[in-house]
Amino acid sequence: MTAPTLETSAPATLTRRDRCDRCGAQAYVRATLPGADGLELHFCGHHFRRFEPGLVASGATILDERHRIDASTDD
Ligand SMILES: [Zn+2]
Repeated sequence: MTAPTLETSAPATLTRRDRCDRCGAQAYVRATLPGADGLELHFCGHHFRRFEPGLVASGATILDERHRIDASTDD
């Protein structure tokens, strides 16, 4: 019996344990800063909107999973 081959190329995703660095809400965006440290910042949708211009300007790699936010909780 052969086990099915699972694709392992799925991108990393955020989990419920990832929390916004600013307010502690569930994070839906991860920004990885360029450079040797590769520092990762986590943001809720609200705070990502606030910091997005600066993050993009700094060349951060953005993992945006805001499509997963329940419409009812988007403040
Ligand atoms: Zn936040």
